Parts: sequence; C-alpha cells; structure tokens
Amino acid sequence: MSDDQFQILLSVQDLDARIDQLRHRHETLAERDELAARQQDRKRVAGRREALQVEYLELQRTLKRNEDELAVLEERARREHDRLYSGEVTGTRELLTLQEEVDGLRSRCSAAESDALELMEAIEGIEAQLESLGSAVEAAEAEVAAAERQLAEAEAVVRAEIDQQAAARSAEAARIPEVALAGYDGLRARMGGVAVARLRGGTCEGCHLALSAVELDRIRRAPADELCHCEECGRILVRV
Ligand SMILES: [Zn+2]
Repeated sequence: MSDDQFQILLSVQDLDARIDQLRHRHETLAERDELAARQQDRKRVAGRREALQVEYLELQRTLKRNEDELAVLEERARREHDRLYSGEVTGTRELLTLQEEVDGLRSRCSAAESDALELMEAIEGIEAQLESLGSAVEAAEAEVAAAERQLAEAEAVVRAEIDQQAAARSAEAARIPEVALAGYDGLRARMGGVAVARLRGGTCEGCHLALSAVELDRIRRAPADELCHCEECGRILVRV
C-alpha cells in the first residue's frame, strides 16, 4: 500500500465511525421514544375502554336477566291475582294464602323494578364514560399517527445522511487493495471500531502503548507498502 492508501484507509475508518454514529442516532432518535410513549398512552386508554366495555356488557346481561325474571314474576302475580278474583277459590284460608302470595309476588316485582332502575342508571353512566373514552382513544390514535410521521421524517433525514456517507465510503474503499480492506474490516469488527491507528512517536494511537525498540526498528525498515500491525493490539499501523 502506498502512503496515500494508508491515508485513505484512515479516511475509510473515519467514515465508518461516522456511519456507526449515524446508525446509533437512527436507533436512538428522540422521536422513537416519543412514539413509544404515545403507543403506551393509547394502550392504556384502549385498555380502560375495553375493561369498561366488559363491565357494560355484564351489566346489560344482568339487566336482561332481571327483566326476564320481572316478566315471569309479573305474569305469576297477574295469574294469582286473577285466580283470587275468579271465584274459583272460596275458602277463607285459601283466599288469604293466595292474597299473601300475590302480595309477595308484587313486592318481589317492585324490588326487581328498582334493581332494574339502578342497573339502567349504571349502564347510562358507563355509556357516557365509554363515549368520552372513545374520544380519548381517537385522540391517542391521532397522537400515535403524528408521532409515527415525525419518526419517519427524522429517520429519513438520518438515512439520507447514512447513504451519503456510505457512498463516500465505497468510493474511498475502492481505492484500497481488497486484501487490505478485508483485513481492515475483520480487525475493525474485533477492535471496537478502530482497526487502523497512527504510529506517532513510537506509540500506537490505537492502544496508546509504546512499541518496543526492536519492533519500531523492524517497522522502520519494513517496505513502505507493507501492512504493519501493532504488537500490542494488532491494529494496522499508519506510519507518520
Ligand atoms: Zn496498538
């Protein structure tokens, strides 16, 4: 590799670092957190509405049962009442028993009626709450949609920048021998993003350790195009 190519390798590394930063920014956009928060809100409101709908249906079922029972009681009360005045029953004792039965049935009817009223009031209250929760869910949906749009816009900006840097990286990388590039890529993955380091004043700027005199001497004598590696960290050294 020529001196130029070593410089290009450093520039590729800078571009790779920049692309990594951009990818990180893409993953940690504030708009992403905002969207997650809005989705949480929607889930909470929708959950409340769902729980209330269950309660609503349960109350309606109870009311229906209550109304059915009431109809049966009313029918029985009417029948017994008719019997009472039909002239079929004549014995005083029997008449008295029948009257008591009619009274009992009527009082059960009015208890059932007042239960039904209470149930209807509760149902109306829940209907009102469901309506306002319905609006709250709609508002939460709209906020989620807005947050999604904002995230998409923010992502597009970062992605465009990544594309731009990636194109610059490809152009630079094309000027380096493939073997060196492959070596660089492999090292970069293992070395936490820094595969190439300047050798300045006998020190590797990748690991900041001084190279031994023997090694320094060997590197100094090595042909300029030879890839030299730091004996401490293994990074590709650029002699400056
Ligand atoms: Zn090193």
